[in-house]
Amino acid sequence: MSGSRELPCADKLPDVGTTIFTVMSRRAAELGALNIGQGFPDYPIDPRLAAALAEAVAAGHNQYAPMEGATALREAIAAKLQASHGVQVDPAGEITVTCGATEAIYSAIQAVVGPGDEAIVFDPAYDSYDPAIRLAGARAVHVPLAPPRFRYDWDRVGAALTPRTRLVIVNTPLNPACTVARAGDLAALAQLVRDRPITVLADEVYEHVIFDGRRHESLLRHEELRARSFVAYSFGKTLHATGWRIGYCVAPPALTRELRKVHQYNTFSIAAPLQAAIARYLPRHPECWQGLAPFFEARRDRLLQALGGSGFGAPPAEGTYFQLLDYSALAPGEDDLAFSQRLLEEGGVATIPLSPFYREPPALRCVRLCVAKQEATLDEAARRLRAFASRAAR
Ligand code: GLN
Repeated sequence: MSGSRELPCADKLPDVGTTIFTVMSRRAAELGALNIGQGFPDYPIDPRLAAALAEAVAAGHNQYAPMEGATALREAIAAKLQASHGVQVDPAGEITVTCGATEAIYSAIQAVVGPGDEAIVFDPAYDSYDPAIRLAGARAVHVPLAPPRFRYDWDRVGAALTPRTRLVIVNTPLNPACTVARAGDLAALAQLVRDRPITVLADEVYEHVIFDGRRHESLLRHEELRARSFVAYSFGKTLHATGWRIGYCVAPPALTRELRKVHQYNTFSIAAPLQAAIARYLPRHPECWQGLAPFFEARRDRLLQALGGSGFGAPPAEGTYFQLLDYSALAPGEDDLAFSQRLLEEGGVATIPLSPFYREPPALRCVRLCVAKQEATLDEAARRLRAFASRAAR
């Protein structure tokens, strides 16, 4: 409306723009580029899962689900946690179904931190953590993990703790670094938070996407940490259905009560037919999660092999359905934002740079690719990357 004055509007996240995932996906669509940046599968879900959803709608699962999640789904999740990680979880008091793991993380943060509090995150940190902490009125303290290995430096974490620290957020397997926490990391974390009023939030959405025979060190299996942790999981990752937006949070009863206070006013309850479909599908098809590691490891290896000798380095991902591509031999002086832009425009391949996941980005010479793609997509990506690298080398 011309002539109207804009109303003053509080800006609670002044430095936040559109996420790097959306930016790269939009630009890829505009340019008709191959999008292997944002993490989502480009192949269909299991038709039996699709059929279970159609059945759930036909059977009348179309009104509000219970706030904490459908009972049948929470029971199926508890049985799966027992089978996959050997842990006993009470579906009534310790599991809450959420709108993706992102809501689990957001609601958990709102539940436990507020003005004056500090929350520690490790950079590269998944992009939703920091804004959620700040919207809660708390301060995010960023502890960087240094490339190329992105390992934890627990002395540095210890030095970052203050009497105001209330939360530590860990992510294993770690998106976007593609690393996984070791048992020793959990032990070090447990020792640091012992005798302090600190809650832990573990983002374990890639729990089953872990390679080369490694074991996922879930915080649920660490008794001491489990007693003070929220652990967030994702059916989007496990069922190849990122658009379904269904995740869940596991936490001891007292933390779960606090989480649900936020969850009930945030999303209230999650899509009923989707919950009914997963509750029906999951117990009947345990192979869906049992087979995830070999499924994605084969895709990772296919891509690595296709890139062999290309000039790109590719340190094999330890976990997640991503893979880092090291371009230091091709463009040693170019930062990752500039490089990913050039790769998109000149090479026709959209990737994700890592600097947006750091508060103070170090010199990064790698970008992230998603391997949750059809073989043909990965082959075409490798073909374009090789062509780009050979032009760059000339
Ligand atoms: N989890 C997805 C990724 O890491 C991004 C989801 C989103 O776009 N917010 O690529």
